[in-house]
Amino acid sequence: MPKQYDPYQNMIDIMDEAAGVLGLESKDYETLKHPERELVVSIPVEMDDGSVQVFEGYRIQHSSVRGPCKGGIRFHQDVDRNEVRALAGWMSLKCAVVDIPYGGAKGGVTVDPRLLSKNELRRLTRRYTAMISPIIGPDRDIPAPDVNTNAEVMGWIMDTFSMLHGYTIPGVVTGKPVQIGGSLGRPEATGRGVMHIVQEYTKYAKLDPADCRIVIQGAGNVGLTAAVLLKEAGFPVVGLSDVTGGVYNPEGLDVERLAKHIKTGKLLDTAVLHGDTHRLTNDELLQLDCEILIPAALENQINEDNANKIKADIIVEAANGPTTREADRILRERGVVLVPDILANAGGVVVSYFEWVQNIEHLSWTLDRVNSMLEEIMHRAFYEVIEQMNKHAVTMRMAAYILAIERLVRATQIRGIFP
Ligand code: GLU
Repeated sequence: MPKQYDPYQNMIDIMDEAAGVLGLESKDYETLKHPERELVVSIPVEMDDGSVQVFEGYRIQHSSVRGPCKGGIRFHQDVDRNEVRALAGWMSLKCAVVDIPYGGAKGGVTVDPRLLSKNELRRLTRRYTAMISPIIGPDRDIPAPDVNTNAEVMGWIMDTFSMLHGYTIPGVVTGKPVQIGGSLGRPEATGRGVMHIVQEYTKYAKLDPADCRIVIQGAGNVGLTAAVLLKEAGFPVVGLSDVTGGVYNPEGLDVERLAKHIKTGKLLDTAVLHGDTHRLTNDELLQLDCEILIPAALENQINEDNANKIKADIIVEAANGPTTREADRILRERGVVLVPDILANAGGVVVSYFEWVQNIEHLSWTLDRVNSMLEEIMHRAFYEVIEQMNKHAVTMRMAAYILAIERLVRATQIRGIFP
């Protein structure tokens, strides 16, 4: 893998730069460059036809210095150890940016879930949970949904872990169905957080939502929720894509109709298009004429091959790591504002935190309470990042890293190194 596409190395490079701005010595933050614990597991699954397939899975705990490890589980054919490592590191930084008492972790299984039946997926999830069960738990490491995992999968994880321990342990996982201890508002939380950050930024930059055309790459849980909420908030959403390609309407998409189609489990390529809406490729979508581009799919989508062709003025990273380091540099030179992932997509883990607190206290909060506390945290984090940006005259990404690293280093210094 070329260095600029190695997401973990990208993260370390930015950390080094942020530490330089803070005047830290390498001993102050050396531990943050090394994940605390990495578990690689082989997951045998009895397939419906009687054959056995073995999948590789990971759970990587980057840091527990600020609290229990926290982070999602992804099922994807491209999952590898290095990607999970970077995703785990970003979780530590993200939780520090929004100042919730967690460290960072991530899990993944290298599998294309579209090729598995529901029963195969359930068996895979249960066996993976059993394999990582020695290192997870409400006080140790709390998984959550990520790419291609959802509330149903979290329910299977909760049940498997509970069966292994002999009693029900809701707090082992967040993003569960509400009937078994999930929080109201958790499924929409990441997209809602993205919407708040877009609103905060446009307010800060004194932009009128009606003048900010939005293009979103990715119509998964995050991208689709953000599309619906941003449209409700008065932003014209002109482009949207999924794995099959994109749709575009310069006058604004009929987001509700598209959302309805996607929520029935279908992809965009089968959506009936109305008016001036037409199809385009994912590459074309990223290069559309718009004010705000929201990558909400996978890593490395904005890279040195297309960074020069992006026409948006502002990029809000709803995915984790969608922009490579080289693209970051090109965009900065071109004056494109980039609102970083570890701030923009933190809404999911914030409401995961609320879910975990509700589980520990055996309470359930109203949707209004969840949503207003989410808004408060996103607002505070946004302005804390802006403060660092102005104080150090750096980009928003650097400012968010500075804020996070300062908090992580401070916690490390207070705790000291054992023994
Ligand atoms: N997978 C989400 C993320 O990348 C949520 C993690 C969580 O809720 O723990 O932030």
